[in-house]
Amino acid sequence: MRPDILNPLFAEVNVLPGVGPRIAKAIEVCAGPLVVDLLWHLPSGLIDRSFSPNIAAAPPGAIVTLKIMVDSHHKPAVRRLPYKVRCSDESGELTLVFFHAHEKYLRELLPIGEIRVVSGRTEQYGDGIQLVHPDHIVPESEIDAVQGIEPVYPLTAGLNLKPLSKAVQAALERAPEMPEWCDKAYLDRQGWRTWNESLLAVHQPESEADLQPESLARQRLAYDELLANQMALALLRASLQRVKGRKISGDGRLRDAVRARLPFTLTSGQEAAIAEITADMTQPHRMLRLLQGDVGSGKTVVALFAMLVAVEAGAQAALMAPTELLARQHFATLEALLGDCGVTIVLLVGRGKKSERTSTLARLAGGEIDIAIGTHALFQSDIEFADLAVAVVDEQHRFGVHQRMTLAAKGKGVDVLVMTATPIPRTLMLTAYGDLQSSRLNEKPAGRAAIETRVLPISRLGEVVDGVRRAVESGARVFWVCPLVEQSEAVDLAAVEERHAQLQNIFGDRVGLVHGRMKSAEKDSAMSAFAAGAVDILVATTVIEVGIDVPEATIMVIEHAERFGLAQLHQLRGRVGRSNKAGNCLLLYVPPLGETARARLEIMRETDDGFRIAEEDLKLRGAGELLGTRQSGLPELRLADLAQHGELLATARDDARLILQRDPELQSERSQALRILLYLFERDAAARYLRSA
Ligand code: ADP
Ligand code: MG
Repeated sequence: MRPDILNPLFAEVNVLPGVGPRIAKAIEVCAGPLVVDLLWHLPSGLIDRSFSPNIAAAPPGAIVTLKIMVDSHHKPAVRRLPYKVRCSDESGELTLVFFHAHEKYLRELLPIGEIRVVSGRTEQYGDGIQLVHPDHIVPESEIDAVQGIEPVYPLTAGLNLKPLSKAVQAALERAPEMPEWCDKAYLDRQGWRTWNESLLAVHQPESEADLQPESLARQRLAYDELLANQMALALLRASLQRVKGRKISGDGRLRDAVRARLPFTLTSGQEAAIAEITADMTQPHRMLRLLQGDVGSGKTVVALFAMLVAVEAGAQAALMAPTELLARQHFATLEALLGDCGVTIVLLVGRGKKSERTSTLARLAGGEIDIAIGTHALFQSDIEFADLAVAVVDEQHRFGVHQRMTLAAKGKGVDVLVMTATPIPRTLMLTAYGDLQSSRLNEKPAGRAAIETRVLPISRLGEVVDGVRRAVESGARVFWVCPLVEQSEAVDLAAVEERHAQLQNIFGDRVGLVHGRMKSAEKDSAMSAFAAGAVDILVATTVIEVGIDVPEATIMVIEHAERFGLAQLHQLRGRVGRSNKAGNCLLLYVPPLGETARARLEIMRETDDGFRIAEEDLKLRGAGELLGTRQSGLPELRLADLAQHGELLATARDDARLILQRDPELQSERSQALRILLYLFERDAAARYLRSA
């Protein structure tokens, strides 16, 4: 249950004065539906209204706050002309200009003969000065409310600054006095104030420096959010580990047999990962480990060794793939690697004969089957294992690993290994998984040649074509990627078709084409023609990013490389260099290059390390925009910026660990405050893991 102290913040925004249904809707779009969302809606700029000259001294184009006398109202003869109000002070005259004005309203707001304070940006008009729709018009008594520094908030269509600022102000007034959840000594060391003071400071910036992520108030709030995030993950983890695990250790007989059969030697990274996994499995607690490595880094063998430990111990193993196709591929690979080692392995996918399935299920339940490969259907309720000891989940490019991990681990105490081909930066790892153990395959298997990457302006297309010609003549195959350049699919299609036609003019009909609008069968046949060597050059949109594996392809040309994100460039480049032949990647760009695009291409030229690329991507783009993270169930951070607050994250992780070590059920006085923190950041689910919450 959410602590009562938070109730004022967890009401809908329409409880705030001045927020009707229309404004509430707009606020929901740009901040969120609840009062608390407004607290997290931080200013992105400020307007300094402290400049108060007299009218004669007010320069055009400046933000000024003026004290004026209202002289006369002038209603226009026709409605499309503006309504004008003439004003003055001892130094000169000023006109206030209003389009589509309501006369009655303006006459009440600006009564003739009275003094008013107006604030806005001045404009030159003829030889006079005017203010078009002043931002503020108030009686003299309220000058202090206007004549200061005003925060500017990110807006959305249909929402102006004034009502939004008022709503934020009202939200701030509802913020309850919070007990302190931070360690006192840490607060002092950082020079941070209380949560309430920091919140107010963040919404009342006095200078540009106050808007920066490293300002003390923003740091404090970011830390609070990260602490809530890390506490939540630690609680989840603790609850997973409360389910008792088991010690699994085999005698090594199957692993030795398979090792002897391998057509290659394991890389030291693979050996290290296998050692980490087997060590985990022999522990009495349950294994939860992530195995990360680029496509082609050799994760499958590592998974096989983990599964063999279970089989040696007389138990069973399962491998879950994201698609049926991948399940089949894994099955074929593993069957070949196992050969006649005496391990029984089956493929369990949706399709297939009912009678066959029934008998497979019976053998699985009876313990005859050692390893089952399948899709998520493996964890359907009708499937029973005699003794499942380890589950491997292959996530490929997906990010939302955590939920699956809990799913796969449901109630059984099974050791879980999750494989992912999306290198996850260290900082994101922490916010997404907390202290989850992880093994990384950094190096490529031996025998893979390096890829040379060059960055060229499109004006050098002629040279690129010459190079491709030479390569094709000596038997190379070439991917030629045309990206999604325009918003419209039709325009993109035209671009890729045009390039295809041009290359056909040069190279004849050994140039294939594949794009997203083609039927699956057409796509498959175009790709198989390329794989079989019937065509030398495959012009493609980014559909080739997934799946296709053509070891003979050694050249990757990417047009408009400046439009791609780093992760995508890396995935695309990974399509070549999958054999022992040297690869080339040519990144063609259309100048001028923006700063970020230049940085991206430079990184691509410098490194082929997926982890390094992921880190750089995070720095360049920010976590929220990292490939697919929004849709993937990564926690959304409102206040913390991982690229800026990385150190705070590490501290929050350590603090969360320490807090839960000392007080696992959050009973102490500070812990009561920490409970509030969890709910404040809507980590309700995690708070529920506390037995007495
Ligand atoms: P991933 O699942 O990480 O994308 P795979 O496990 O499918 O990669 O391995 C890619 C290819 O590399 C496979 O053909 C595999 O047999 C091969 N491979 C794996 N480990 C090694 C190694 N140590 N040396 C040489 N080739 C390897
Ligand atoms: Mg794989």
